[in-house]
Amino acid sequence: MKPQTIIAANWKMNMTNTDAAAFAREFKRIYKGQGDVKTVICAPYTSLSVLTAEFKGTGIYVGAQNMYYEEKGTFTGEISCAMLADIGVTYVILGHSERRAKFGETDENVNKKVHAALSNGLTPIICVGETLEQRNAGITAEWVMGQVRSALTGVDAAGAARCVIAYEPIWAISKGAVLSGDKSLVATSETANDACGGIHNVLKDLYGADTADKITIQYGGSMDGINCTDLLAQSYISGGLIGGASLNAENFSEIVRKAQELNVPKGVY
Ligand code: PEP
Repeated sequence: MKPQTIIAANWKMNMTNTDAAAFAREFKRIYKGQGDVKTVICAPYTSLSVLTAEFKGTGIYVGAQNMYYEEKGTFTGEISCAMLADIGVTYVILGHSERRAKFGETDENVNKKVHAALSNGLTPIICVGETLEQRNAGITAEWVMGQVRSALTGVDAAGAARCVIAYEPIWAISKGAVLSGDKSLVATSETANDACGGIHNVLKDLYGADTADKITIQYGGSMDGINCTDLLAQSYISGGLIGGASLNAENFSEIVRKAQELNVPKGVY
């Protein structure tokens, strides 16, 4: 069974509320329906309510880019799963490399957040990926597999089947390839597929083939409306997490449209 194709935008710290509302109206105008592809917009906290209201009834999902694992209490500045779920948010990005590198997110925290998200009905998009140094040292597989195992510690097969894994090689993220056209900054489809295949194998090892075959594995790292076709055609890549190219409704909808065109069964792994 082929996993659900999921195309998710990661706006990072971009877009005011006003920008988000304008994007939503423009995206709804261009967007031609889901097909078999799920579309998710992961936005800053400040725009989540506006987006869930704008996208109500459209089949477009809204996600956060982080959350805290505790239910409530003395955690100034944090946002709980229940707060997100209450406003109609259904996805949450966890363990993005920028949060790991700049905000001290640890594997242990990510694992706690995965449990909390699942308990509250949110779909976690769990980000994993290696640095260029790790890739050059030949430890990509070991590192990425370790991150996957750690994020899913204590998660049963039913929970794992509700997770999305985003493979994002850190060296390929936000390198300006979308603007510069420098293809060397994007993982080749083969490189990306190799790593996603490795992730699929870990999932198979942990949960068996039936569950592993249900888990969407996205590629993220300077994906755009041109390179997405090749990346999404790979056997183990069933979606994309898109930063820079998701900030413009035209550019993002182009990726969604191409994913819909490609969304033919990929066969058994
Ligand atoms: C990301 O950071 O999740 C990402 C994929 O960004 P970009 O597409 O800009 O490389």
